[in-house]
Amino acid sequence: MKKYSKSSNFYRNIKSSFYNRNESLLKAELDRNRVYLKQPPRDKCKLCGSKLPETIDFTKHLVSYKFCRKCDHLNGIHDDTLNFAKEIYSNEDGSDYSKLYLEDNYNDRINHIYLPKADFLIDQLSKKISSVYDFGCGLGFLVNSFLSRGIDAKGGDVNKTLINAGNGIIEKNFDIRPLESIDIERVPSHIKSLDVEVLSLMAVMEHISNLDEFLEAINLSSFKYLYYSVPIYGLSVPIESVFENVLPRHLSGGHTHLFTEKSLEILNKKLGVKPIAEWRFGTDIQDLKRSIQISLQKTGSSDYFIQRFENEFSEYADQLQEIIDKNHNCSQIHVICKKL
Ligand SMILES: [Zn+2]
Repeated sequence: MKKYSKSSNFYRNIKSSFYNRNESLLKAELDRNRVYLKQPPRDKCKLCGSKLPETIDFTKHLVSYKFCRKCDHLNGIHDDTLNFAKEIYSNEDGSDYSKLYLEDNYNDRINHIYLPKADFLIDQLSKKISSVYDFGCGLGFLVNSFLSRGIDAKGGDVNKTLINAGNGIIEKNFDIRPLESIDIERVPSHIKSLDVEVLSLMAVMEHISNLDEFLEAINLSSFKYLYYSVPIYGLSVPIESVFENVLPRHLSGGHTHLFTEKSLEILNKKLGVKPIAEWRFGTDIQDLKRSIQISLQKTGSSDYFIQRFENEFSEYADQLQEIIDKNHNCSQIHVICKKL
């Protein structure tokens, strides 16, 4: 089953900080990329292990990238080591990384982003789901969404700050604290010990340092269905490459490599799963719109002109994105899989 696209009406409110704080967010992002540049070189593909080509395919926001010529996976040319992950996600209980999320409006995110994710799974399985475990749950948006649909849901994350804050919010509504914090070194053994009907991994696998070990742990874990989302190579990447003065939100910082349509097949094989439903929707066109608006601001365009562009573009932005989604060139995919 293939599903495409969603409305972007929610996007402007939720991500408004990306418009208003481009300079400070861009600076912080480049600092994260400088940490990445200090990591050892990656000469083998993160996903399939083949030797990467000698030639660099492109460089943007300080970092160079190569496509694996065997599996098509897009690789940054440095390793995303455990130290790199610790430095950018979980140091000081992850309080740095958490800021962006804590400032956003919790209920808007639930209604416009996470309930649709929960409902896609519920609709596709068309049966009562007995249990969901959301690994990498953050503040517990998805756990909260499943709970509000009457499904038993728990979650785990390496970021203690998010877990504590998330449990506080969920406790107010449901009188339980279903989120647990997991030591980053214990992640594989924790995954292997799970026994649930649905294991969900939303925007998780792209952040894992030792990907092979993690995929093997999932393979050995007891679940019937796996529900994951990953960022994929799409039009956003060339867009980011030509707008160097705009905050990159797709391939940068914690995203040091990206799946492609072809490399997803290798991923599913390693996970020991077979896809039964896929939902493609990207933010490529919203990235383009933001890039144009910020560039117009920088070149001294009037507010009148910038607003005019916004009004005109917004009329057909979703239609453009739908074309990209249907051509499988969008920035994100959600996949529901059955364990083999
Ligand atoms: Zn490869």
